[in-house]
Amino acid sequence: MSTVTASEAAYVVAALLFILSLAGLSQHRTSRSGVVWGIAGMVIALAATVGLASRSLTATGLVLIVLATAVGGGIGLWRARVVEMTGMPELIAIMHSLVGLAAAFVGWNGYLDVDAELSGSLLGIHHAEVFIGVFIGAVTFTGSVIAYLKLSARINSRPLTLPGKHVLNVGALVAFVALTVAFVARPNMGLLIAVTVIALALGAHLVASIGGGDMPVVVSMLNSYSGWAAAASGFLLANNLLIVTGALVGSSGAYLSYIMCKAMNRSFISVIAGGFGTPAAAADEGEQGEHREISAEDTAELLREASSVIITPGYGMAVAQAQYPVAELARKLRERGVEVRFGIHPVAGRLPGHMNVLLAEANVPYDIVLEMDEINDDFAATSVVLVIGANDTVNPAATDNPASPIAGMPVLHVWEAANVVVFKRSMAAGYAGVQNPLFFRDNSQMLFGDAKQRVEDILRALDSLDAPVPEMAGTSR
Ligand code: NDP
Repeated sequence: MSTVTASEAAYVVAALLFILSLAGLSQHRTSRSGVVWGIAGMVIALAATVGLASRSLTATGLVLIVLATAVGGGIGLWRARVVEMTGMPELIAIMHSLVGLAAAFVGWNGYLDVDAELSGSLLGIHHAEVFIGVFIGAVTFTGSVIAYLKLSARINSRPLTLPGKHVLNVGALVAFVALTVAFVARPNMGLLIAVTVIALALGAHLVASIGGGDMPVVVSMLNSYSGWAAAASGFLLANNLLIVTGALVGSSGAYLSYIMCKAMNRSFISVIAGGFGTPAAAADEGEQGEHREISAEDTAELLREASSVIITPGYGMAVAQAQYPVAELARKLRERGVEVRFGIHPVAGRLPGHMNVLLAEANVPYDIVLEMDEINDDFAATSVVLVIGANDTVNPAATDNPASPIAGMPVLHVWEAANVVVFKRSMAAGYAGVQNPLFFRDNSQMLFGDAKQRVEDILRALDSLDAPVPEMAGTSR
């Protein structure tokens, strides 16, 4: 078997492994095996690519490839080991930026190093691929860098609202189409520089115009863009595996974006156009009345009297790593005959499925973990809701205030319960930067402090409430 045939066969195996990986990653129970399939596919893909390239490479070239793989792999391994789960979205965003940058470089290389055998319409197609690859890559690069800066709170997450921002976006797309036609007819470096600059600016503008609350859709959208950028590189490099893998990432990212858009009640088309950032300034509107505080001991009393409890976790539970005591609290209350369920908002935390992963880690039974749509009608008949480090996902302004930057986003209707206890450290706003009127409602009380410590305090208070009262000296027998 020739090297080319062996490599192509290995590519088919790698592509199948990537499909198995995606299937595995779609369920909590099979996600670990999904990761293993993915690693196996990538090892085979790398080995086959180096094998294929070795036919035309010098020894120095091969050494450089091995060195680059070792350095890149080492950095990847180190980052993956040290990253906090709450830091995953920003890590993913910066990874996407590298895919975009690589695609833009491959495009530029395709312009500078044209296969001498190409002529006529094939040469035209090659130049179209160069132009499209550079465009998608550069949009993905700057878009992902801005997403990284927003997600890591290095820049403000409020939407940038330049005057005529939609006209700017559409203008950039029209310029791209016109320049592509001109470039295919008469390729020159000036046009390639122009499209690179336009794409870099468009990517940055698309993501900068999006507000904090809508960032989940941006992360999945950039995931999709990075897939299409990789597929574009695959066409340029005539690498079938890159085309297949890029298309898999591109389409699965697009589907995830569609699911996120539905969850956030946003239009898919307007997301693609980058026009879904709210024009209203997402300013912190300040306190909206008096808030009441509650102690851990009084919360324990409240829970002892409750017949039904819903726990709605959010990003703060992940920060505090409070899932273990929260799971313990749920177990204790259920032992007492209290109906306990978890209500999960689709964008709670900082990753799709973030809360489900944390609760599964703490062995919370799956059957009491319900999606927002499954539980939203039940809050009105619930005695106590514990809001553990959630904010935007339980904000009534999304339903009550059409001027709110998060207006229209479906939220958990926690305020309909008889009592709401909100666990957080201060009166600060959530990720979208919007104040939460829930905190000032008559049936809400704030339990300030780190969520893990406060839940542990409640567990202790429940234990001491249950402890038998020692008999007083001198009481009759
Ligand atoms: P939010 O980010 O809105 O709020 C989290 C709350 O947790 C804050 O109010 C904070 O208040 C509190 N908190 C932080 N640390 C602690 C702690 N140690 N103990 C107790 N409380 C703490 O959370 P939600 O989960 O409700 O909403 C998620 C937001 O993130 C949405 O806006 C969503 O759009 C966005 N997003 C989601 C992504 C996803 O894929 N899921 C990706 C990117 C963004 P305080 O500081 O006062 O303690």
